[in-house]
Amino acid sequence: MKVCIINFKLQCPSCFSSQYRFSQLDITSKNPHGAKCIFCKSIMQVSAKRLTAA
Ligand SMILES: [Zn+2]
Repeated sequence: MKVCIINFKLQCPSCFSSQYRFSQLDITSKNPHGAKCIFCKSIMQVSAKRLTAA
């Protein structure tokens, strides 16, 4: 299984895109999800707004 379904949303901090791709080579302590923006190659940031919606 290489497909990983994630419940939270990722967003690029540079161009605010939500388009990203995963790579195991990109997994670091700063980027535990291994997700990078497909446009500017920035490390995706977790948009955690939905997690606290109650
Ligand atoms: Zn970007």
